[in-house]
Amino acid sequence: MSNFDFDLFVIGGGSGGVRAARFAADLGKRVAIAEKQALGGTCVNVGCIPKKLFSYAAHFSSDFSDAKGFGWSSGKPSFSWHDLLTNKNREIERLNEIYERLLVNSGVHIIRGHASLQTKQSVSVEGHTYTAKNILVAVGGKPEIPEFPGCEHVISSDEAFYLKELPQKVLVVGGGYIAVEFASIFNGLGCDTSQLYRGDLFLRGFDFDARTFLANQIRESGIDLQFNCSINEITKQDDRLTANFSSGEEVSCDLIMYATGRTPLTENLGLEKLGIKVDSKNAIAVDENYRTNIDTVLAIGDVTDRVNLTPVALAEAMTVVSHLFGDGKKRVDYNLIPSAVFSLPNLATVGLTEEEAREKHKEIKIFISEFKPLKHTLTGNHERTLMKLVVDGESDLVVGAHMVGADAGESLQGIAVAMKAGATKALFDETIGIHPTSAEEWVTMRQPVIR
Ligand code: NDP
Repeated sequence: MSNFDFDLFVIGGGSGGVRAARFAADLGKRVAIAEKQALGGTCVNVGCIPKKLFSYAAHFSSDFSDAKGFGWSSGKPSFSWHDLLTNKNREIERLNEIYERLLVNSGVHIIRGHASLQTKQSVSVEGHTYTAKNILVAVGGKPEIPEFPGCEHVISSDEAFYLKELPQKVLVVGGGYIAVEFASIFNGLGCDTSQLYRGDLFLRGFDFDARTFLANQIRESGIDLQFNCSINEITKQDDRLTANFSSGEEVSCDLIMYATGRTPLTENLGLEKLGIKVDSKNAIAVDENYRTNIDTVLAIGDVTDRVNLTPVALAEAMTVVSHLFGDGKKRVDYNLIPSAVFSLPNLATVGLTEEEAREKHKEIKIFISEFKPLKHTLTGNHERTLMKLVVDGESDLVVGAHMVGADAGESLQGIAVAMKAGATKALFDETIGIHPTSAEEWVTMRQPVIR
């Protein structure tokens, strides 16, 4: 028996922290987890889960009109934001309880309150000090809003999940995952929605064809999408906001949401006291085993600002547990991580963009299928689908796959497995399609695009 209170003390009860705590406790280790807010972290409370529920809600507006083409008719649909919020909040509370039960059932000691590092093997929470052989920091991140005149009038995605009322007119600023997803949510729920992005084309880092195609689809869906546009100043009169654009234009609206990136939640953690190294963006620097420069303190997930996705934090958590208490063989493979932007329609991706592949490979082949999905032959809905494969011309390996269309995330998960397994384009061609689906296009693209 060691002299420490715990074998592992986890700071932060989000996806990564809870996973590490549970798996360590399941191995018989004495584990504590400290969390000052609801269990489940960003993903469960103000991220992936409520966002996806809102996205389903937003999709119904086109579902009702699509249904007419299939012979359905009903009265004019109406929408209650209050009902959606109540149901969403109930589901999130249920998930919070499930997280708590999972921890308790594994024998993890849950401590409520703000935790900070005291020494390299002790943590203080609300005046109590706990000692631990190892400390894992998994505190996540928070939205970052730039400083400018009137920035105090804007909200972030955190508040968007709890709005008392839906705005009639909303401006969403940013061109990353969160801005694109929320613009689709507000638009689908009936708000007059503009999305402003400072550059030439949003979703920097994604495949150019996919970004361009999504921009067209998003405009088609009714969002006023403006590129090379930023806000210089915001003023407020009564409940009305006026935004002064860089173009000189003035726009009046009810709500302005900034989704301009997230920053690691490293404040008041005691990092400076221990001399724990952070990078220029305040992310905790870790080695390949997630150890900081203080060997008893480890960090995973968004606080390390590497690949800020829940499934990556989960994989990192299991790897840490394997290193601390198991055979240490587990590694996270950061190659071919698939992801989806839950815009309407979705954009999903795995592997290299065409632009990256051109840099990396001598010869590449591009296969593209762009079509009206069968469903929309009867609906009058103008939504189209894009599917694209990037192939290394020398090895025939499929090195990138990109899709814009309904349920693109669902489709790309299987493609990611094939690519992890080293599937060649010839293997895709040999695979029999499932007819009639959109996904069968993955295995029926025959002619490379001539560029
Ligand atoms: P991102 O980093 O993805 O995007 C930030 C956006 O804001 C970029 O378009 C950026 O422009 C723009 N921006 C940054 N600073 C400013 C500024 N000062 N003024 C105007 N625009 C600015 O951040 P998000 O907040 O969208 O998401 C954070 C992370 O959360 C993501 O990277 C992702 O890892 C994760 N996430 C994943 C989701 C999913 O898997 N579906 C969903 C939501 C979040 P520029 O490109 O020019 O730098």
